[in-house]
Amino acid sequence: MAVNGTGPYDPENIFAKILRGDIPCKKVFENEWVLAFYDIAPKAPVHVLIIPKKPYVSFIDFNKTASAQEIAAVMQAAGQIAHDLHLEESGYRIITNAGQNAGQEVPHFHLHLLGGKALPPFPA
Ligand code: 5GP
Repeated sequence: MAVNGTGPYDPENIFAKILRGDIPCKKVFENEWVLAFYDIAPKAPVHVLIIPKKPYVSFIDFNKTASAQEIAAVMQAAGQIAHDLHLEESGYRIITNAGQNAGQEVPHFHLHLLGGKALPPFPA
């Protein structure tokens, strides 16, 4: 499914279902603001998805409308998870795909945390 990164939030997207507990996930981290779980089709030995609990289609509206506290919570969670999964020494990558041209498939904002091996150069 391709999305343009903006527009109305689809409450039936797969991450909304995970947040509601309608479908399972392998949870890594959770607090008031954030849920993180392993990607179902990992692109690296460690591939975690970090999502805000509130509904944002992509980084585009997250950045515009989330509170500073919530933005900080997502970023702090990413750092905490990288620490907890022992990725700091070897290094890791955090990315987000915002919209169709970036390859976003799930229309609920998420960070990808990738690590556990030497990652290929980031594509242009
Ligand atoms: P995007 O392309 O939107 O940036 O990334 C979506 C990610 O969600 C993909 O890496 C994909 O493997 C993952 N994904 C899709 N469906 C599920 C699911 O049902 N459970 C989990 N854990 N990950 C999923």
